[in-house]
This record gives sequence, structure tokens and C-alpha cells, in this order.
Amino acid sequence: MKNALLSYFELERENIIETFNYLHSVPEIGFQEYKTSEYLAERLTSMGYSVKTKIGGTGVIGILDSGKPGPCIGLRSDMDALPHEIDGELSYIHSCGHDANMTIVLSVAEALSRLKLPQKGQLRIIFQPAEETLLGAKAMLESKEMEGLDYLIGTHLRPREELPYGKISPSIRHGASGIMEVSVTGSEAHGARPHQGVNSIDVCALIIAAANSIRLDPQVPHSLKVTKIRGGGSALNVIPGKAEMAFDMRAQTNSVMKQLKELFKNSAEKIGESCGANVVCHLKGEVPAATDSDEVVKIAKDCITYVLGEKGLSDYVVTSGGEDFHNYSYEMKNLKTTILGIGADLIPGLHKPDMKFNLQALIEGSKVMALMVNEILK
Ligand SMILES: [Zn+2]
Repeated sequence: MKNALLSYFELERENIIETFNYLHSVPEIGFQEYKTSEYLAERLTSMGYSVKTKIGGTGVIGILDSGKPGPCIGLRSDMDALPHEIDGELSYIHSCGHDANMTIVLSVAEALSRLKLPQKGQLRIIFQPAEETLLGAKAMLESKEMEGLDYLIGTHLRPREELPYGKISPSIRHGASGIMEVSVTGSEAHGARPHQGVNSIDVCALIIAAANSIRLDPQVPHSLKVTKIRGGGSALNVIPGKAEMAFDMRAQTNSVMKQLKELFKNSAEKIGESCGANVVCHLKGEVPAATDSDEVVKIAKDCITYVLGEKGLSDYVVTSGGEDFHNYSYEMKNLKTTILGIGADLIPGLHKPDMKFNLQALIEGSKVMALMVNEILK
């Protein structure tokens, strides 16, 4: 069966590229992937999947049940493009390669149904909207349609300096990230009588100093930086009563992120208390770090080696970038996951409007993903 799967993708190469070209031609931003979801639903239906649409907004799920007991494995792709301003004009472009991720997952879906797989358990093809806003995975989880999954495999192209074409990584270890918004309410006073007020900018300065002196395990990469500060008004002789700040937080593990958040929030609130100001911290846009499964990573390594040989098997890709895929394993504690990193000679980089890559990587990525499903559901 392994070799039948591999030759399927070679024979279907032209059709796979055609699928990519179509998806590339309809870039739509998060929660507006209407044409994309219509196309994906049509294709999955024609392959014999039972299809659910409008999941978590514009998401699409195709289910292929073997009718025999066994695990439930999901293949997940994101769907959204990014907005870019070029020469003053707004354009939507698939500059993060979600068109490639969709092509791989859709091609694997087609290969498995044509070859009458899976032989046991259930296969769920999951197209998730709005990855770039970091809200899509949460919307899919809220829909309850992810329930019952035992395994979940994702895929993403990587820039050439991280992974050249011909190499695939069994896991992209994204870090955790989040934004902490802080609002400080002191009280206004006349510039000549500062003792009658609480200067909110002074409070901000103390909070920034405290944030910069947080020390955590140096073995785990992490950082906390102020990225916005706004306070005071047009009257420059008034002690400002209100100020706002934002901090960008990064950590390579979820436990260090938890410490970072708690220490920061605690110190900011205590500083507020000691100054007589009200400090409120609000966490926004948080993504957990990767928590891949040893079992799935081992299967991925074996399948990558089978497809590309030893030289094609890359080490883990470690990146401080965030990916909302990791919400699934964060929320569903028994879910076994990994996200494959696909080497594609991608230049000049992700989120660049002129991003391009070697399309042959679509074939290699599809082969590895299909073999992994075959391995888990054989
Ligand atoms: Zn992406």
C-alpha cells in the first residue's frame, strides 16, 4: 500500500498543481474564506466524504469512516491569506502558503479515498479558517466538531534558510506568544500640585522597569517587551491620570509562559497598589507553544525517511513564531499531534507578498502525510 500511495502522487502531479493554482488564485482573509470553503466542500463531496460546512465560521470538515473500530485521525490545514498593501492598494495574497497546506491536505484526502483507505477508524479532513488572526482554531474547538479526535496532523511550508527543498521536519516547535494590555488609572492634578494626583506615566515607568527585571530559566528562550505606551493629553501642564501600555510576550514552553504572565501581572498590580493607581492587565491573542506527541513524531520520522531517505529527515524546527494549531493539543489533553515542516526552497520569506517556493514540495509533503495516516490507521 505504501508504494501505491507514493506512485499515486506522482501520477496525479499535474492535478495537484492545478488544485494549488486554483486555491492560490482565490486568496481570502480570515473568516471570509467563502470561495475557498465552497471549493473544498465540493471537492471533498466528490471524493465521497460526508461534508460539514460553516464550522467555526467558514471551516469545512470532511469525514470518511471505515465502519470499523479504530482511532480517529484528523488532517488540518489553515485556509486564510494575508492582506498586503502594495503601491497604496490593498491586496490579499497567500503569502504564508496556506494555499499549499490546503493542497497537501486535499490531495491526501483524495488519495486515501481513491485507494479505499482507511481500513479502520475514521479520517477527518479539517480546513480551519482564520489562522492569521489566531482565532480560527478556537472557533473550531468551540464548534465541538473536533471532539472524538485521537490524532491531529498539520503541515506548513518553512523558509529556505530553515529548511531547503528535499527536507521535511517531523515537528515545528512554535513558541507560546501573547499580548498583555495594561491600563493604568491614577488621578489627574495640576502640574504645580503633583502631590494631589497619581501620575499614570510614572506608574508605567515602574511597571516597565519591573517587567525588564523578571528573570526566568535561561535554558528556555523567553522575552517580555513593552510595545506600546500612551499617556497624557494635549494639556502639558496636567499630571496625566490615565495611561495604556502593551507588552509582547514569548516563551518556548507553556510553563515558562505561565510564569511570565503570572509574575508580570502580579508585579504590575502590586506597583499600581503601592502608587495608589488602579492597574488592570488584559491578556489578548494568546497562542500556546507546541506540545507534539512522541508517538506521532516517531511515525513522521519513519515516513519522511521512507519518502526522502535519511538525508531528507530534518531535525525539529524551533521558532519563536506562533501558530494556532497548538490550541488543539493545549485544549484536548489526550490529542496526539504534530505539525510537519516542509522544506520548499521558499524565498524571500513567509508573509512576504512576493513569496514563492518549489511546487514539487507539495508532492513530497502529501506523500509523507498520506503514509502517516496509512501507518496509524492500517
Ligand atoms: Zn501560516
